[in-house]
This record gives sequence, structure tokens and C-alpha cells, in this order.
Amino acid sequence: MRLDGVLADDLSVVNAARVSFARRRDVMDESDAGLIRFLVRERHGTPFEHNCFRFHIRCPLFVAREWFRHRVGSFNEFSMRYARATDDFYVPEPEDVRSQVGKPGAYSFEPVDSELAERTRAELQEVYDHAYATYERLVEAGVARELARSVLPVGAYTEFYWTVNARSLMNFVSLRAAETAQREIRRYAEAVEQFLAEHMPVTHAAFVANDRTAP
Ligand SMILES: Cc1cc2nc3c(=O)[nH]c(=O)nc-3n(C[C@H](O)[C@H](O)[C@H](O)COP(=O)(O)OP(=O)(O)OC[C@H]3O[C@@H](n4cnc5c(N)ncnc54)[C@H](O)[C@@H]3O)c2cc1C
Repeated sequence: MRLDGVLADDLSVVNAARVSFARRRDVMDESDAGLIRFLVRERHGTPFEHNCFRFHIRCPLFVAREWFRHRVGSFNEFSMRYARATDDFYVPEPEDVRSQVGKPGAYSFEPVDSELAERTRAELQEVYDHAYATYERLVEAGVARELARSVLPVGAYTEFYWTVNARSLMNFVSLRAAETAQREIRRYAEAVEQFLAEHMPVTHAAFVANDRTAP
């Protein structure tokens, strides 16, 4: 994942809020930081919409599927109708192979022993190899890519662009960098959050101080 473009700073939040009083700042001061903290705390969200982050993301389909549920933002994705699928599939690291214990909403995910971890990785790879060989065979035989892709599992990698403003980004981070989120998307959300912290440090600090609740 990488940040492909950005137009974002804390000053845009301050000026969007201060336009109510026909005021504008060129440099942030402590009262502006206080204003941002107030806006986050009171959930005045719209001043956080005058900026944008454009990300280029490569992730497994099952992660993209969770990501695309975030409607406030723009997406364009690699097409397996127009282009040939790659043989790139997600195999977790041994320490990421986990068990699932408990009930919905209160699962805990525990590491498994190394033998099961390695077996899981090997079985995934075996399915991926078989699926991709079948895909290639069907395409070579003349079956349309849009149909042949049906054999590919959700561990296949896709890529997409995602353009989003800071308000929606905070909502994404709040939900997807949380302990309750699936580990794989959580890692991406944590990476995304670093870019927010870098480009809008006061906004990010206010978000963290507000219990990571998006305004
Ligand atoms: C841990 C976890 C588990 C999940 N489990 C499931 C599951 O089992 N099944 C499932 O289907 N989904 C599941 N989801 C997805 C979840 O329901 C949301 O679709 C997803 O997190 C996007 O959140 P959002 O709607 O806040 O984001 P966005 O779509 O980006 O929306 C941002 C905000 O805009 C507002 N908004 C957007 N659209 C509307 C609208 N139509 N009406 C009113 N307000 C709107 C809301 O305030 C919303 O918070 C899960 C998400 C998480 C984080």
C-alpha cells in the first residue's frame, strides 16, 4: 500500500470552520489546535472534509471486500474481466495462522501450534495452485476471463485506488484499526493511519484523544 497523492493539512480544517466568521489563518497557532480538538470532541465533522488522500492498495480480495463497504470515498479496481488475473495469493505468515474461540462479537483469536500453522499454509498454497492452473486452462481454451475468474479464491490479490477525505478516513481507521477488526485489514488500517498522522498531526492527535471516535 502506498500514498499516491495527498492534499491535506490541519489548516484546511481550521479555515473551513472559521469561514463561519469570515476569518482565515495562514499559520496554525495553539487556539487553532484547540478549535480542532473542540470540533472532534463535539463531532462537528464537515470541516474535516476539505482535503483528500489517494491511496494505491494491493490486498487480498477478502480484505478489499471489507474495504469497499466504506461508501464515503471513491474506488477504482483492477478488472479481472479485462485483464488476466495474476497468480498472486495470500498465504499468512505462520504466526498469523490462528484459531477462533468464543461467540460472535466476542471472539478471541489464539495462535495455533507450528504443525497446524504449516499445514494451513501448505493447504492454502495447494488450493491456490490448483485454482490458478484451472483458471489458466480455461482461459487458454477460450473461456472468457470474466467467467474463468469464478474459480479464483478470495485469497487472490487485487489492487485499487481509494480516494477519501479525513473525516471518512477517521471513520475507517476507527472501525478497521480496532481490535475487533480482522487482523489483515487492521494492518492496512494502521498503515493508512500513519499517513493521517503525518499530514494532519493535530487532527490525528484529537481523534486519538477522543477515544478514536471519528467526528
Ligand atoms: C468489526 C466489523 C464487523 C463487521 N461485520 C459485518 C457483517 O457481519 N456484515 C455486514 O454486512 N457488514 C459488516 N461490517 C461492515 C459495517 O457494517 C459497515 O458497512 C462498514 O464498517 C462501513 O462503515 P460505515 O457505514 O460507517 O462507512 P461508510 O460507508 O464510509 O459511511 C461513513 C458514514 O456515513 C454515513 N452513511 C453512509 N451511508 C449512509 C446511509 N446509507 N445512511 C445513513 N448514513 C450513512 C454513516 O454515518 C457512516 O458511518 C463490519 C464492520 C466491522 C468494522
